[in-house]
Amino acid sequence: MASSTHPSIRRPALTQVRNLGIMAHVDAGKTTTTERILYYAGAINRLGEVDDGSTVTDWMLLEQERGISITAASTTLPWRGHVLNLIDTPGHVDFTMEVERSLRVLDGAVAVFCAVAGVQPQSETVWRQADRHRIPRVAFLNKCDRVGADPASAIASIRDRLRATPIAIQLPLGVGEDFRGVIDLLRMTARTWEQASFGARFTDTEIPAELEDDAREARDAMIEAIADVDDGVLSAVIAGAPTTAELVAGLRRATLAGRAVPTLLGAAFRNQGIHNLLDAIVDFLPSPIDLGEVRGASVTGDAPVVFPVSDSAPLAALAFKVFYTGDVPSTFLRVYSGVLTRGQQVLNATRGTTLTVGELSRVFANHMDEIPRIEAGMIGVVRGLKLATGDTLCSPSTPILLERIAVPAPVMTVVVEPDTAEDEARLARGLERLSLEDPSFQVRVDPETAGTVIAGMGELHLEIVVERLCRELGVRARVGRPSVAYRETVTQLGVGEHEFSRTLGGKGQAGHVRLQVEPAERGAGYTFENRAPISELPKHHVHAVREGIDEAVERGVLAGYSMTDLRVSILGGSYHPVDSCDFGYKIAGGKAFLEAAHAAGPTLLEPVMTLEVVTPEDYVGEVLGDLHARRGKITGIAAHPGVQTVACFVPMASMFGYATDLRSRTRGRATYAMEFHHYAEVPHQPREELVARRSA
Ligand code: GDP
Repeated sequence: MASSTHPSIRRPALTQVRNLGIMAHVDAGKTTTTERILYYAGAINRLGEVDDGSTVTDWMLLEQERGISITAASTTLPWRGHVLNLIDTPGHVDFTMEVERSLRVLDGAVAVFCAVAGVQPQSETVWRQADRHRIPRVAFLNKCDRVGADPASAIASIRDRLRATPIAIQLPLGVGEDFRGVIDLLRMTARTWEQASFGARFTDTEIPAELEDDAREARDAMIEAIADVDDGVLSAVIAGAPTTAELVAGLRRATLAGRAVPTLLGAAFRNQGIHNLLDAIVDFLPSPIDLGEVRGASVTGDAPVVFPVSDSAPLAALAFKVFYTGDVPSTFLRVYSGVLTRGQQVLNATRGTTLTVGELSRVFANHMDEIPRIEAGMIGVVRGLKLATGDTLCSPSTPILLERIAVPAPVMTVVVEPDTAEDEARLARGLERLSLEDPSFQVRVDPETAGTVIAGMGELHLEIVVERLCRELGVRARVGRPSVAYRETVTQLGVGEHEFSRTLGGKGQAGHVRLQVEPAERGAGYTFENRAPISELPKHHVHAVREGIDEAVERGVLAGYSMTDLRVSILGGSYHPVDSCDFGYKIAGGKAFLEAAHAAGPTLLEPVMTLEVVTPEDYVGEVLGDLHARRGKITGIAAHPGVQTVACFVPMASMFGYATDLRSRTRGRATYAMEFHHYAEVPHQPREELVARRSA
């Protein structure tokens, strides 16, 4: 590794660490804001502009100069005696999994909103995810320099649409083209940015006389809002006037408790408001200590294990991002407790393997520095270990299993057929590597065509997986059209029985199985239970029966889709001391299952998505008509000034090419966000067509 001019940042006291992400609707200015933060915190020396494609955290740039993959990278930077680990969170909903895993390792977030558009559909999706993870947030209303910027109504949209409690801690000095500074309501000072320095220099002065009344009124409103969510400030208000320190402390407590969202203004593109934002990150977002403790489970998953957040506690670290430099894997880890040291023996509690920790490093905006250890609360990279996203590393003597990163159900599939045997080998290697990096896609072999089927979370997700296989990993292959990831299930109880027997080379092979199949709750998956007496099915043959059933479940009985939400119970069979064998039981298990599943009213399930479309009023009729034709079930329509939000459930099957279609219907003026919600039975007619197509 080439030497770096940047000093390694040592971890200060734990209370001085911030692990945070920046989340936003595409286009709100996340990349620009991130980039300016890196610049002002001294991590990079040159401003790259989004528009010339040179920013350092833009996820579309797969590799940077030193071969550092920067997808969801974590970057470390100093600010005001603190250390900030900035974790990239992608904005596109096709990557909910990526968002989900970054939310797992960050403690707080900056939510960037466009001061013109306010809350947009995708910001809602990400906001709700952050709610689920109870992540404290500050809001940054970006693009205050744009014509039409309206911070007050953007704040109202955060309150109304996200049901959050934004507390404005600044007043704008001018908006739109006039935007030149902010009044800090906590300290009652005015900050103006120098246009000539492109915003990089600013001066703090007294509040201009003509704005004093407005500022005092806004400060009173702010104090009242903080007192509403924090008892400490309420007491201070009752006792007299709270000090700035009391207000900051109270707002911090309320933010950490999820009761308030301090809200700031700025225009990242013009470098305006970034210093204040960095201060707010330090003032209001949590340190790892604020997490309380590290909670996990024993390796068997049944007993809770709890460690304190401290260097002297046992090690608990979570792998959250894998990337490759050539053929060497590297993994981003968050150390929750203890210290991860080079040369140390660790247990991968997820896989049950013991490993020796190799080279450790820390990532700055565009380079890495080697470091001897990663302390509690910090993020770093370990090189050379084969880890998957979501794996827990711990000390072999004090094992802990941290909660896995939730993987949403894949809703789309694509078939990939390699050109040559060599490509087939490359495809297998490539898929193994990509699935370590991104556990949100699944790979299986189509039992009918023997083609490789990749299942993922949307058209764009699959496109990117395929593109990386072809471009980065050199696989040449024919790629089918994406199709919906249907599943099969059963609707009633069905019983099946099969007795297998044959003679092969003078030796008998036999197996006999009786079983039942019944529907399970939606989302329960496939479960297996053995209720057969050992006289009919000896214990050592159960796995063979299960293998036969598992394969049949994977193949499906109607149209070749794997089955879910069903319970299979072995009821009995018979045992022949000489002829009974694994092979016989496996065949009997598979055949008995087929008979039972056919008797159990098999049907098809399709992924149903929640879709939210935000459209100018003029196009609402058009959008609704189209959704109706796509089998959408409208669940709500909300009116906002000039635009309406249409919410609905809609089957994935009817959403191909929606992005393009919506754009042309609304002249590009509507936006949407879509997420998997549940599986539902496919209606009769499309079901018949799918089944017929499969058997054709
Ligand atoms: P992202 O998609 O959220 O990462 O957004 P980007 O940072 O890529 O910004 C989207 C577009 O908005 C780009 O063309 C930026 O130049 C522009 N932009 C970002 N911040 C501002 C801002 O503060 N003011 C204005 N006027 N434009 C901005």
